[in-house]
Formats: sequence, C-alpha cells, structure tokens
Amino acid sequence: MTSFDRLGLSKNLVNQTQALGYEHPFPIQEQAIPAILSGKDVMGIAQTGSGKTASFILPILEKLQKAPLVRNRAIDVLILVPTRELAIQIQGVCTEFNKDLQQEVRTMAVYGGISINPQMKGMLGVNVLIATPGRLLDLLDHKALSIEEVQLFVVDEADKMFQMGFDEEMDRIIALLPKKRQNLLFSATLNDKVAEMKSRLVIDPVIVEIERTEDQEGHLQIEESAYAVDPTQKGPFLRYLIKSKEMKRVLVFVSSSRTADNLCEKLNKNGIKAAAIHGKKSQGARNSSLKDFKANEIDVLIATDLISRGIHIDDLDVVINYELPRSPLDYIHRIGRTGRANAVGKAISLITEEEEHHFKIIQKKNKTRIALEETRDINLQGY
Ligand code: AMP
Repeated sequence: MTSFDRLGLSKNLVNQTQALGYEHPFPIQEQAIPAILSGKDVMGIAQTGSGKTASFILPILEKLQKAPLVRNRAIDVLILVPTRELAIQIQGVCTEFNKDLQQEVRTMAVYGGISINPQMKGMLGVNVLIATPGRLLDLLDHKALSIEEVQLFVVDEADKMFQMGFDEEMDRIIALLPKKRQNLLFSATLNDKVAEMKSRLVIDPVIVEIERTEDQEGHLQIEESAYAVDPTQKGPFLRYLIKSKEMKRVLVFVSSSRTADNLCEKLNKNGIKAAAIHGKKSQGARNSSLKDFKANEIDVLIATDLISRGIHIDDLDVVINYELPRSPLDYIHRIGRTGRANAVGKAISLITEEEEHHFKIIQKKNKTRIALEETRDINLQGY
C-alpha cells in the first residue's frame, strides 16, 4: 500500500498526516496529489468523505511553502465553495496541516452572513483564500483583495454551486482570474452543467473518479468529449485512441454498412480485435459478433444506428462516434449505452471540419457543451 511519503510531499507535511492519524492516503489523495504537484489540472469526481479536501490542500501547501510569497492583497490560491460550512471545514483542514511549514502560508475563509469589515481588514497577506462566490464578489467590489495573480484556482462541490444558482457569480469570478493558472474542479456528480464547466475550466485534466456517480434521478453519468480530426486521419486517430488508451469494450458508431465493414477490416489488420454489425449482415453473423463482444473475445464492435437500436449490451466502457448520427436524439441513444457501475461512461466523437456545424446543433438541442480538442500535434505515424 502506498504511503504519504511516496506522493512527492515534503517530510514536514508527511509528518502532519501521521500526526493526524492518517495511515495511508485515500485513493483520491493517491491520484490527485502527484498530479497537482506536477502542475496539471485535475477534475475530481468525489463526494465529501472521500478525503478530497486533503487531496488538494496538501499539494497547495507543499507548493506555497516553497514559493516566493508576496505579502500584499493579491492572493495566490483561490478556493471557491458553495457554503459557509464547507469554507469553515476547509479552513480547518488548512490549519491542521499548517503547523510546521517551511515558511508561513496564510489561509483565510470568507463567507456571507457576517460582517464584511473584519474580513476586509484581515485580507492583507493572505495566500490561500477560501470563499463563497457572493462574499468574494463583495470583497472584490470593495477592493479588499486582488485575484489577478492567482496561480491555482479550485472549485469545490461544483454541482452544488450550480444547484445553488451561483452560475453567474462563478463566471464573473473566473473572468477576473489570470489566463495562466492551474485549475482543480471537484464535484460529487458530473451533470451537464459541471461537464460544461469542465470543458472550459480544466485543460487536459487528470481525471480522478472515486465513487459511483449518479445524478438525482439515478442515471449514470457520461463524460463526453470530442476531437477535431482531419477526414483522412479518422481511421488512424481511432486506432491511436483504442491502442494508446488500451480501450476495451468499445462500441463504435458509423453511418453506413460500408464504412462499418471497411473500418472493421482496418482495425483487424492493425491487431485490434473487432467485428461489425449492420443491416446487410445475416442474423446469424450479427448474433455471433454480439456474442463474441459480450464474451470479451473482441474488443471493438462497430455498428450503425439502425442495427444498434435493437441490441442491448451492458458494461460498455466507451462509445465512439466515428461519424455523427443524423439526429440529436440518436446521439443521446448512442451515448446512453455507456456508463458502468462505479464508473463514469465515456462518449467520444471524432469531428471533421464539415461536421462541426452539425455537432453544434446536436449540442444545442441536447443542452450540452463539449469542447473540441485539437489533435494536430498528435503523432499518428504507425497507426
Ligand atoms: P473529506 O472528503 O475531505 O471531507 O474528508 C473526510 C474525512 O476523512 C475527514 O474527516 C478527514 O480528516 C478524513 N481523512 C482524509 N484523508 C484521510 C486519510 N488518508 N486517512 C484517514 N482519514 C482521512
């Protein structure tokens, strides 16, 4: 089992974890601490109780105890939280770990419902500010602090933020932050709004998923992403995705039987075990492909929309839209096939320039926003 001293933290902080009786890092800490220390953005899907607070407070303190800190009204780290209770709780965790740092790191929690004056006065020299959105904006209006030099920005309990209607406040705050910064986004669920925030807040994030994530109706959550791909590169890019990410249990959607067959042949030639099912195959052939897929004898099943409606496959890891469906509703049907117990399902779309407009319509109708990730710099040679 990993111990805290394997995560890149200095001895003094490791000692504090021991003093608190933390024997081993929780999974979220094991995954998030090294990622945050390396400067990467992190998207954490985890609930209270998972140990998420320490997973970001420890690396924040580690970074700040070694950083040149200026004592003015420009804060270094901003942690945005939905409630005063959470602000107080996080401040408490900061205090616990703040005992033996290489240099003093000042932390402070600000929230509404109490007088603003002491908070304004106390702001000088604060390094880590934990704040609820409304009170932070009040303090900014009073010029009590500046967030223009924030190096690390955390949104905790993002789903609750939206539930409480802080959409606009968060946008205003984010607009005031410097462009270059590290972002950490935590949420118990990955609903549409959080997914939308994820697509514009965190860049190439390390994703840490801790618990089964369901929305309030008990639906499984699906993480949608999309890549801008040149039409001639779709095949190589698909093979790159499957191979480099070692994908298994992948359902690939195409728009015609011919594409399905061609794609299947190419995948098999490249050592990826695949089968195609579409309307031009006999019932017997379809059944046996499906059986092989369910028995994990093939890793990739390629299907057209027509045929996919009638089939039921549980436990898919990934749905890939090699080509987009015609209707937004078909898109929902397609991606709804992923999502396993204890994991967020993944839906990936490969989008050519020509398909971009159609993809925008699908997103608009489905009330989602999916950032188009560039692929130009990915070396597809050998795929
Ligand atoms: P949180 O998810 O931040 O609300 O943490 C939940 C509880 O777990 C808190 O009471 C922490 O003090 C505790 N905790 C966090 N990390 C550890 C750990 N590695 N070992 C034992 N307890 C922990």
